[in-house]
Amino acid sequence: MGVSKAILGEPAIAKAMLQGGVEFIADSHLENIIKMRNAGLLTRFVLLRTALSQAESIVQNVDISLNTEIETVGKLDHFANAQHKIHQIIVMVELGDLREGILPCNLSQFIEQTSHLSNIEVIGIGCNLACYGGIKPNNQKMHELSELTNVLEQDFRIRLPIVSGGNSANYEWYKSAPKVERINNLRIGESILLGCETLHRDPIPGLHANAFKLIAEVIESKQKPSLPNGEISQDAFGNIPTFLDRGIHHRVIIALGRQDILPSSLKPEDDLEILGSSSDHVVLDSKHLDLKIGSEVKFDLDYGGLLAAMTSPFIQKKFVEFS
Ligand SMILES: *Cc1c(COP(=O)(O)O)cnc(C)c1O
Repeated sequence: MGVSKAILGEPAIAKAMLQGGVEFIADSHLENIIKMRNAGLLTRFVLLRTALSQAESIVQNVDISLNTEIETVGKLDHFANAQHKIHQIIVMVELGDLREGILPCNLSQFIEQTSHLSNIEVIGIGCNLACYGGIKPNNQKMHELSELTNVLEQDFRIRLPIVSGGNSANYEWYKSAPKVERINNLRIGESILLGCETLHRDPIPGLHANAFKLIAEVIESKQKPSLPNGEISQDAFGNIPTFLDRGIHHRVIIALGRQDILPSSLKPEDDLEILGSSSDHVVLDSKHLDLKIGSEVKFDLDYGGLLAAMTSPFIQKKFVEFS
């Protein structure tokens, strides 16, 4: 599954994921899935985060949803019945990371309850690790998920065609696992988008780490002192700033701010240093570079930066095709 939430369900990028070979597009926001459907993308859409209040629209717009609450699944069943549909779900199991998931000891009861819902089909189970608790997906966790799959299939005489072992953090496990057992699916966002695995942010061979560039315009470029002048109080975000005296130096301001981006996630392409930021300005030490106003400064992004930049309505998105 290609995960499109970090790119706000941008249809052009989801399309590239499909061309790259993913079988499903998964997103945590229903709004993103609706956007991709409306753009004419043909695939099976998976909703990663299922909210009770959206049940009707989920049944209408999503092929498969990830679930952990029987009340929500009951609501999905109700609307699936009304819309004459079978809604497919993947049941998420808690394997130690403590984000979403049903405790393994409660799994059988959950599956038993879903078996009474005539418009719900359980097509798999899954787990999510290294997201909240930073727990590593390893052979032991994947074996546990495989075993749970086997037990459920035997106990309920069902088949679970999808066993979804995790996200971009599963790369290391996948590369080194002697056998993947029942795991036949991963839900991958960051690795596809930024070319790295996510346990150590190591690059994945053959992938591009800089497919995304953020470009900002220089709106001020001046020699200025490095120390502010006056009584120090709180800055725009309630912090008391501290400063390093580097004498008179060249500073530039770019038309970007914390409303658009996590400044700490910006990695300048050139030898520049980010000194600080407010909601709408980022101040940089431009060192030996002669950056005139109107010129551009380019940055690479990490996941948080990509997420924020894609979400900001003030940042124009431009797609460049490479052949
Ligand atoms: C966001 C998300 C993913 C994708 O995570 P990446 O680290 O981007 O690969 C997978 N599964 C779930 C449930 C998610 O919420």
